[in-house]
This record gives sequence, C-alpha cells and structure tokens, in this order.
Amino acid sequence: MQTNVVTINKLVAENEAVTNQWLRLLADHGLDFFARLSADGVFVEASAGLPLLLGCSPEYLAGLRLRDVVDGEDAAVLEQALTRLGSVPGARERVIVRMIKLVTQTAWMELRLIRDSHENAGGVLIAGCDITEVKQREDDLIHAAAHDPLTGVPNRALLAERIEQVLAQARRSGGGFAVAVVDLDGFKRINDSLGHAVGDALLRQAAGRIKTQLRGDDTVGRIGGDEFALVLPGIASPEQVDVIARRLVESMQLPFLVAGHTLFASMSMGFALHPVHAVAAESLMRCADMALYRAKDLGRNRWQLFSENLAATRSRHLELERAMFEAVRNGEFRLHYQPIARTDGTVIGAEALMRWPNVAGAAVPPTEFIPIAEANGLINLLGEWALRTACMQAVRWDSEGLEGLSVSVNVSPRQFRHDHFVNHVRQALAESSLTPSRLTLEITEGVLMHSPEQALAVLGTLRRLGVHIAIDDFGTGYSSLSYLKRFPLSSLKIDRSFVRDMLHSPNDLIIVSAVLGLARELGLQVVAEGVEEERQLELLREKGCPMVQGFYIGRPVRAEDFGSAVSANPAHPGEPR
Ligand code: C2E
Ligand code: CA
Ligand code: CA
Repeated sequence: MQTNVVTINKLVAENEAVTNQWLRLLADHGLDFFARLSADGVFVEASAGLPLLLGCSPEYLAGLRLRDVVDGEDAAVLEQALTRLGSVPGARERVIVRMIKLVTQTAWMELRLIRDSHENAGGVLIAGCDITEVKQREDDLIHAAAHDPLTGVPNRALLAERIEQVLAQARRSGGGFAVAVVDLDGFKRINDSLGHAVGDALLRQAAGRIKTQLRGDDTVGRIGGDEFALVLPGIASPEQVDVIARRLVESMQLPFLVAGHTLFASMSMGFALHPVHAVAAESLMRCADMALYRAKDLGRNRWQLFSENLAATRSRHLELERAMFEAVRNGEFRLHYQPIARTDGTVIGAEALMRWPNVAGAAVPPTEFIPIAEANGLINLLGEWALRTACMQAVRWDSEGLEGLSVSVNVSPRQFRHDHFVNHVRQALAESSLTPSRLTLEITEGVLMHSPEQALAVLGTLRRLGVHIAIDDFGTGYSSLSYLKRFPLSSLKIDRSFVRDMLHSPNDLIIVSAVLGLARELGLQVVAEGVEEERQLELLREKGCPMVQGFYIGRPVRAEDFGSAVSANPAHPGEPR
C-alpha cells in the first residue's frame, strides 16, 4: 500500500541527516514524535510516536490535515500559532493543543512548529510531546488551590471569583441573584464531644446534602469551620429564597450516620439578594452574614432574608454589647423583685428580675439584653451575681420583718450548662446562709430538652442540696409532661400568654385547666404568671391554681420597696383596698 506517511525507521534510510537531527531532538528534549506537513497542512511524514499516541495506524494519518486531528476547541489556537509562524524558513512557534485520540478522547500535546525549508515551501515541521499527565497534575494543583481539602467544595478564594462572575453576568443581564451564608447548628458541640474525625465526616456529609439541593450553576463553598456560602444565580426574589431555603432546611432533617453515631444537625441560613440589598460582592456577603446572625438569634434551624431593619437591629446589638461590658465592670445592673402569692393573696416569695437602668437615659429591657448576654457569655457573670444578690436579699428581708420569703432566680440555658453552675449555687447559699429550700431556680423546658442527661445530673445535685426547680414559661415550649416526669421538679409557671387570654379564649382556658390537672397528678406546684386583673385571679382560684404572680399582685420593684408593695397588694388578706 502506497503511503506518504512514514515511520522514523524508514526515514533513516531516506534522509539520514535530517533524521539524525530529529532523533537527537526527540532524545534531548524528551519529545515523543515529529511530523512534517505540506504547504496545505497535510501530513507527509510522521515518526511512529504520533500514530502510537493517537491510537491509529500510520495509514490513517495519511492525507489528513493537522487540524483534522486537533480538537475543535483548540482550532483557533492552532490557526493563530500558524499565522504567527510566518513564512521564513526556520521560524519557530510553540503551541499547546488537544489532539484527538481513539476518536473520542483527547490528549494534551505541546507542539513546536518550525517553518520548513525551501524544498517544502509553506510546509511545517512539528516536534511534539504528550503532556497530558503534566496537564493533569497542573489541573489537580489548580483544583487543590481552589477547593477545600476536607469537603471538596470550592474554598473562599474560588467562591469570591464565582461571585464576581455571577455579578458580572447579572450586571449584563440586569437580573438578580442570591447569596447565602450557612452555619451548621451545634457543630462545635459534636466536634468537641465526639472528636474531629466525626466532626469532619459530618461536615463532608452536610456539604454533600447541600450540593444535592442545588442546581448546575449554583455554587456551594466552605468559608470557615462549619460555615458554607452559596451563590445562587437563579434566585432573585424572596419567594424563591423561601423555596430553596425550605428545601435546604428539610435536607437536614434525616439524621447523619457517622462512625456508628446517629447525629442530628440542623442549619441556620442568612440570605441576601442582588441588587435589592447590595450590589458589591463584599457587601452582599455582609448582608447575608447579618441575616444569619438574626436567624441564629431567633433560635437556629431557620433562615432569614436580609432587611434594612435587620441591619439597624444588628448595629444596636453591637452597641449594646459594647455598653454591656462597661456596665458589668461598673456594676450598673440591678435586681428588682416581683411578689409571688398564694391565690388568697398571701405573698410567699419574690422573683428576682434583672434591670439595666441606664443606657443614655433609657432602660434596656431584659428581653433585649439577656439574649445578648447569653450569646456573648456575660450571662455567666451576671447570673452568678444575681444568684448571690437574691439569696442575700431574702436573708436581709428576714431581719426587716418580711420573714421566710422564698426567692426565685432565673437561670439561662448557657448558665445552666456551665461547669461551675452548681458550685455557684452552693457558694450563694453558703455566703448568705439562706436555707436552700427557700431558693427556687427557674429554667425553661429548652434546657431539659437540649441535653437531658446533663440536665438530669445537675438537677439531681441541686435537688439533693434542697433547692427547688421551676419550669418557666410553661406551655410555650415542648410541654411534654411525660418527659417532665423524669426530672426532679417542684413547680410549673404557666406562661402569661395563657393567663392573658383565658378569659376570652376557651382554648387557653383549657390549657390552663389541663396544666393544673396534670401538675396535681405529678405533685407539682403551679404559679400562674401575668395576672393583671381581679377576674383572672378569681378564675384561677376557682380552677384550684395554688399560686399567682403578676401586675395585679405587684409589679417588680426595688428590694427596699418590696415591703410596702406587698402590703399594698389588693389581694392581700385582711387589707382590701
Ligand atoms: P420571665 O422570667 O418570664 O419574667 C417575667 C416577666 O414578666 C418579667 O419581665 C415581668 O416584669 C413580666 N411580668 C410580670 N407580671 C406581669 C404582668 O402582669 N403583665 C405583664 N405584661 N408582664 C408581667 P421582665 O422583667 O421584662 O423580664 C423578661 C424576661 O427576661 C424574664 O421573663 C426572663 O426570661 C428574663 N430575665 C429577667 N431577669 C433575668 C435574670 O436575672 N436572669 C435571666 N437568665 N433571665 C432574666
Ligand atoms: Ca422567670
Ligand atoms: Ca415566665
């Protein structure tokens, strides 16, 4: 068979000088093949290496043009290199293209192009080298530099690039898109208690679950320990945010199985929209971050879309936080006391309620500063102070003629979980010499549900000390009475929303009656909170509620005003007004 494509062996016989030169070149430069093209770009010669690399026969190459075996995607690159090469014999160019291998694959080749001598005017000599492996290593390196090694998703740098891309697209099209910051709730706890290997595996699985909820042009990247960020080109309205956010939240509902542990991990998310909330990448991320904070404040396992309002809240939050550290140092916090009475009006105790009288003249309500103190840990200091102060106060009242009052102190979840909490209680009792049974600690149901085993141990110790435990805001949380049976509790405080509405809403009255009935069954005391008027007191008395608290009995007042507040109480026995 006649062919103008020859192997290198044949060439040796025909043109020793040229071939030797090429062989030296191949060897010296670690090249894999050479070839010669005619003026119209058709192969006239090739060394055996080329058909070998392309997985074809030498005959197959005969009559083909170089551009026939170069991948279409690199056609332009090749044409440009050939143009640059010019027509002067000996001129050189270098080009990297993909060549078609086994019809369906490609191999990366580095080609040196040399304008051939006068005899082959317009022809080209090619010395080539397969660089597929080098290229692969390079790609791996580029990938590694741009991706998180643990989860394999893009890292912060690549994510930033991705946002810029989407941003540029959005500017061109005038369309919008969303970014989100995602935080795994409770990750630190899992990582600390079960170890980093488990934490790592959880992160990997969580990243995988997030990915399954996204579309092709969406991006998820890891931007911190347990923080991910999403770039969502198709999401431009609050309604669309709701849809994807709901899907993401739901994707976390099934437990994660990691190294024999069944773990539940929810996530909190903050979203921001371009161009509604911000137009620059950095400010968009900041907006999403603020929204995330809000979502976490609201109790996690939820999402929040950014709003201007939220930005104002956040800056007030930061300002309060700064002022709070000052205030703790300067001892600006105070305790007020609100009477707790039997339904016949006899005051038997007081709840200590924290007050922060003055930030630029205006009092900050505890509903605002307690969550901040809870978030930054100051609650431990403040809570310990409240405990000591309240115990001392009860003893001081004894000496002022208000004898035997019990005192209730609110304990926040973080404080309750603190290692030294039980010791703080012991110290407060020891310092004040208050009889332990006159101290009630008010905790919320969430504390019990969060980590029941720890709660059971702590409550057991407190109970043995003789301290009483009340469940605050009862009815607003999980309210699983069978669950509550497991814990050594003394009383339930019916949340004031039920008391407020029970005169008008049959449902609320049913709840109040049910709590009273069940508490009786479980041998628990009940305090109805938020009693504001006589009719409420009467109804509670009728239903057999043993104890009440609320503005009708008395508002929270300073310790020194407590005595007069008690005797002014309209329900006070023998002293009707
Ligand atoms: P809480 O423990 O449920 O306290 C009762 C809240 O209801 C108090 O609000 C009290 O002033 C208010 N209140 C009492 N009777 C009535 C009434 O008849 N009508 C109405 N509308 N409200 C009534 P306050 O003092 O603003 O405290 C709010 C929350 O802040 C407390 O709710 C408690 O969760 C938290 N808190 C207050 N002091 C402390 C503290 O020392 N430590 C901790 N961890 N939390 C505290
Ligand atoms: Ca309380
Ligand atoms: Ca309460």
